Amino acid sequence: MSEIKTVAVIGAGTMGSGIAHVFARSGFRVLLCDVEQRFLDRAVGQIRINLGREAAKGKLAEVDVEAAIARITLTTDRESLAIADFAVEAATERFELKAEIFHTLDRFLPAGAILATNTSSISITRLAALTGRPRDVIGMHFFNPVPVMTLVEVIRGLATSNETFAAVRDLAIRLGKTPVEVNDAPGFVSNRVLMPLINEAAYTVMEGVATAEAVDQVFKLGMAHPMGPLTLADFIGLDVCVDILRVLHEGHGNPRFAPCPLLVRMVDAGWLGRKSGRGFYKYEK
Ligand code: NAD
Repeated sequence: MSEIKTVAVIGAGTMGSGIAHVFARSGFRVLLCDVEQRFLDRAVGQIRINLGREAAKGKLAEVDVEAAIARITLTTDRESLAIADFAVEAATERFELKAEIFHTLDRFLPAGAILATNTSSISITRLAALTGRPRDVIGMHFFNPVPVMTLVEVIRGLATSNETFAAVRDLAIRLGKTPVEVNDAPGFVSNRVLMPLINEAAYTVMEGVATAEAVDQVFKLGMAHPMGPLTLADFIGLDVCVDILRVLHEGHGNPRFAPCPLLVRMVDAGWLGRKSGRGFYKYEK
């Protein structure tokens, strides 16, 4: 497997821009791809702000900010990704969309190039089976905000080779992250354990056992969590939580993962958490 120097990042939203940021900061050439130029412009604007913040904190020299930005090439043309020797997909969480992206990456990227996905809940094994290189397909699950959070879940699909796993583990280390090895199963480890916690916290509010503030205090003060589960749910987005719970419910076939009716009602009301101004808490827009 040749040394990874040029990385394609597909999807320039919250996660894709963070992933492009950490690769560019670590010296990789980055091809950042989205469907419209305005999404790319927004992403690079955000990356510039975030790198600037790191420079202000003394984590990075000012000249390195410009050098990192200069390593990022923006593109809406998938064919231009053919020069990449590694790809990480961070597009919208929909199977059909990711399937189409994996088909194209498999077609355009050179033989031997690893195709990774940042999916939170879609099966790595299923995406891998759509390509002619299932041994080279893997999950590389970053956490939000990517430049700050040090964890990367490295998820082996059923066919992922040991070489691919080792290359992605080493890549995560080169980015200054801590890789944790996980096998492909619905929700991997992070969401499989976190989402039932958030769901049960929502049940305690729905049943009038405690207020959202009280539930969060129990976890902050009693379990040393930096953020209570309902504050975290608002941060993630209640719609995202319900979607992931549904994937867990379907994938494991176990009713314990069914989303709490209160969460579903809040999503129906448009109370999606921080991003909509209201969730378990109210936020200034
Ligand atoms: P987002 O909505 O912020 O960004 C998605 C981006 O994908 C958008 O810019 C969209 O235009 C782009 N896109 C859609 N179709 C595309 C296509 N065909 N080709 C290229 N780009 C396309 O979403 P996000 O929060 O960044 O999530 C992206 C992925 O990361 C999802 O799979 C999600 O499950 C996963 N993830 C999200 C988080 C999180 O906290 N937000 C954490 C870990 C993993």
